[in-house]
Amino acid sequence: MSLEAPGRPDVAIVGGGIVGASAAMFLAEAGASVVLVERTAVGAGASGRNSGAVQHPFDPVLVAMHVETLRIYRRLTDEGLGFTLPAEPAGLLLVAAQTAPVEELARDIGLLHPQLHPTVLTGGELQAIEPALAAGLSACRLDTGYPVPPAAATRAIARRAEALGARILVGAAASLQRRGDAVVGLIVDGRPLDAGAVVVAAGPWSPDVVDPSGRWRPVRPVWGVNVEVELARPPRAVIEQTGVETVATAGVAETPSQHPSEVPSMFSLITAEGSTSLGSTFLPSEPDPPALAPVLRERGARFVPQLAAAPIRSVRACARPQSADGRPLLGPVPDIAGLYAAFGHGPWGISVGPAGARLVADAILGRRAPIPDEVDAARFGVPTA
Ligand SMILES: Cc1cc2nc3c(=O)[nH]c(=O)nc-3n(C[C@H](O)[C@H](O)[C@H](O)COP(=O)(O)OP(=O)(O)OC[C@H]3O[C@@H](n4cnc5c(N)ncnc54)[C@H](O)[C@@H]3O)c2cc1C
Repeated sequence: MSLEAPGRPDVAIVGGGIVGASAAMFLAEAGASVVLVERTAVGAGASGRNSGAVQHPFDPVLVAMHVETLRIYRRLTDEGLGFTLPAEPAGLLLVAAQTAPVEELARDIGLLHPQLHPTVLTGGELQAIEPALAAGLSACRLDTGYPVPPAAATRAIARRAEALGARILVGAAASLQRRGDAVVGLIVDGRPLDAGAVVVAAGPWSPDVVDPSGRWRPVRPVWGVNVEVELARPPRAVIEQTGVETVATAGVAETPSQHPSEVPSMFSLITAEGSTSLGSTFLPSEPDPPALAPVLRERGARFVPQLAAAPIRSVRACARPQSADGRPLLGPVPDIAGLYAAFGHGPWGISVGPAGARLVADAILGRRAPIPDEVDAARFGVPTA
């Protein structure tokens, strides 16, 4: 990493995940000078290790951000930067052993989001659509779910940001450079980097950056394990166990379990460009991925039997940046001049994160509509000094 001669950028960004990279891209596109500081590697967090589904977030507040993110991905696809959003959704199948909860779910989703065309499928009808599923399951099919390689969007966005002139510095952690009630830049490798404004996009670690005292914690890590498996006949659709949509929106409260067989998990299976991700856990502390891989595979085989004998290619863990109300914190941080939040996209960062970053970039640039109250960073109060 070199900090030589970045000058004084208009904006410094902490975090090279999908949100930080997107903020860099939009700001650079508007002509701002940008430096992004990433401590490990672009996509080192959940942005490079997620399950790989671009999908509808169910929360009505986040729908506009999802639609805008699809638009951003279409443009990125056209630019040929190594990311391709499939032309049509592969379909999302929310599966369960019983039909009644699936019917209820389809009814609820239909009331809120009729454009997803929820359809209940059982028996032969379900197997005809998705032969990889076990017999006897029921599913609610929705018109969403675009499988993408987990790191592809983040890498392509970072490449585009750099092509537009943003500087990405990898290999050192950044902290805030404060002067009184204002943030005037970053401290990187013990050296000041002055900037006109600072965006914190450090995923689940963002509160540590904003408030190192540890008192202000509107976002917490929710750790997930994903297992990369080899399947001879991978399903085409995105498959998730029913209930994952509520865990995702409401956050988690379970305590960490000592034994892998007792760790709670929700099944998901996504195949993008020949690679299949099997998930996942929702844990408050960092799990041991190799210990959990066989457990996830065994549980997954109840839904997709060929998983029982599927070779494991790799295992990974990463943390969702989960806020207390399941929505991101975007825009100016109250009472700290020059500081902007862009974090807390929880389980939906690949599906809504780029649009969240665009709202923050627009706020810095003084453009467009204000940040909606429901995602305004100010709703969680003032960090301690
Ligand atoms: C198991 C799992 C599966 C998921 N699947 C999906 C999915 O299918 N679809 C979907 O939409 N979303 C999914 N998500 C959610 C999505 O991955 C996240 O919401 C998103 O990646 C968060 O992006 P981010 O940029 O906010 O944070 P991150 O990706 O965590 O990036 C933050 C970056 O900041 C860096 N950083 C932290 N502190 C500092 C510092 N002090 N200085 C410099 N750099 C720092 C970190 O190294 C990291 O690279 C999943 C998440 C998990 C955990």
